[in-house]
Amino acid sequence: MPTTTTTSPFWLGTSWKMTKTLAQAGDYADELRSAALAERVPPELRLFVLPATTTLAAVRERLGVVPQVFVGAQNAYPGPEGAVTGEVSMGMVRDAGARMVEIGHAERRTLLGETDELVAAKVAAAVSAGLIPLVCVGETAAERERGSTASVIAGQVHAALGGLGRLAPVELLVAYEPHWAIGAQGRAAAPDDVAEGLAAVRQVLDDELPDVHTGVLYGGSVDAGNAAGLAGGLAVEGLFVGRAAWTASGLLEIAHRCADAVRARSTTDQAIVRKDR
Ligand code: PEP
Repeated sequence: MPTTTTTSPFWLGTSWKMTKTLAQAGDYADELRSAALAERVPPELRLFVLPATTTLAAVRERLGVVPQVFVGAQNAYPGPEGAVTGEVSMGMVRDAGARMVEIGHAERRTLLGETDELVAAKVAAAVSAGLIPLVCVGETAAERERGSTASVIAGQVHAALGGLGRLAPVELLVAYEPHWAIGAQGRAAAPDDVAEGLAAVRQVLDDELPDVHTGVLYGGSVDAGNAAGLAGGLAVEGLFVGRAAWTASGLLEIAHRCADAVRARSTTDQAIVRKDR
């Protein structure tokens, strides 16, 4: 029996990384707001946009109340407000309008030395602050070549949940983003590789957070050309996009491709259910 439900929204979001002035961020937010108000955002989708910290509050304000679009932060510090120069707390990004926070992106792990322990502390702090954590995990090319993809992913997800203790997240997302698939030098993972990665994530989430509403997303060189193929995978509960969604029109185009795939998938699910009866 297929486990996919047609009622869960399909997540589609973008991190703007270290891009956009206030003016550019505001224009993007305006375009997204107009699209949402004109019902040009497919209803099956929940969109999210993760601006840089400098534009987060402005984007939140310019978007206004658009229930289908979440705004989030790309990072925040796991401790309470205080003397930590250059950082912002989970509570501060929430105050600026974030509903979710990205944690443990490959660039932070490799360029800034973000460890599994720090990721775990951030996940716990995000949950305490009432934010939805979006945890990024993924193997390097060398780890894949060694055949350790599934164990690396499972280890990262397990570690990320390690600080939760008795904290019960309302919702938690994990994006499987193989390092070799991300960025200008990357190539999108094949659907079978995506399915393998997401299965490893799902297993740990189901074992360790059986009562929490969780979602597993794929990210890495997603664009309008491959979005439908990726979104059509039964285990794919969302897509996380970088460069191809740095314009609002790019995000909306991918949204429509995903919606078509998700609709086709629901039809297939229903056909399988009918056959099983
Ligand atoms: C990312 O870095 O998380 C990402 C998905 O980037 P891109 O889509 O540009 O590969």
